[in-house]
Amino acid sequence: MNAITTIEDIRARVGALRGEGKTIGFVPTMGALHEGHLSLIRLAGRHADEVVVSIFVNPRQFGPDEDFEEYPRTLQDDIALCEALGVAAVFAPDSSVMYDEESYLGIDIETLNVHMDGGSRPGFFEGIVLVVNKLFNIIRPDVAVFGQKDIQQFRILQQMVREFNHPVSLVRGPIIRAEDGLALSSRNAYLSDEQRRLAPGLYRSLRYLEQQITDGAKNLELLLNHQKSELEAKGFEIDYLNVFSFERMAPVGQLRKGSKYILAGAVYLGETRLIDNMIIELQD
Ligand code: AMP
Repeated sequence: MNAITTIEDIRARVGALRGEGKTIGFVPTMGALHEGHLSLIRLAGRHADEVVVSIFVNPRQFGPDEDFEEYPRTLQDDIALCEALGVAAVFAPDSSVMYDEESYLGIDIETLNVHMDGGSRPGFFEGIVLVVNKLFNIIRPDVAVFGQKDIQQFRILQQMVREFNHPVSLVRGPIIRAEDGLALSSRNAYLSDEQRRLAPGLYRSLRYLEQQITDGAKNLELLLNHQKSELEAKGFEIDYLNVFSFERMAPVGQLRKGSKYILAGAVYLGETRLIDNMIIELQD
């Protein structure tokens, strides 16, 4: 199996599948595929007849001081994994296929972009919304699958689909973790042995907080501050650790029964940024 690299060819391939009456599930990725990505591909296969995977390290979602150059690129292995899962086509374009040298238009994101990763990484979600828009227009999938691992991305894309009227259904896949709880990520490859040993500390903190919150703990701020100190003492640098409303992706002080929240954290171990989250629904 070879990757398809031009818009014309991927359109022809998807068009042929559609001509056979097949529905199309789509899984956009930046490659360096791991079990998390593979779970989304399998999930897409349960929602559509054929699955298309894109592999594109999108320059527009990296800040100037971020790891665009170092980001792991393992295209041949990725294609083999896709083939083994029965993926119908892998779309792996160059940057020059996706972007003109100069661009005159961009997309603004309001409200949902203020906190969490949007607050810490200027331009990040604008780059994602831009590229996913383009990919949706190129592939025109019936269903697209994204991971809960990037929950703010999912929420923003949900809004994009609604506001831009993309004829696609979004499906959210659960976070796939290593045995010790660390959420799988292509960036875990950056961790030293010692950092890898520490890394599940973020998951453990989230688990502890989740338990306390569902048990009805009252002083959220104290709880969060305590966990932040514990993580810092272990060698993590905290970007954020907080509870956010699901609708607006904004921090909440008081939790109400019957509402849906995201307990989320972003931390650094050395230069490596790790994120993780849990969805909390307080029962009435
Ligand atoms: P990326 O290649 O990092 O852009 O991720 C591509 C897709 O895989 C996104 O929808 C991510 O949310 C999803 N993803 C990344 N890590 C995981 C994981 N550990 N479990 C499930 N989905 C994941």
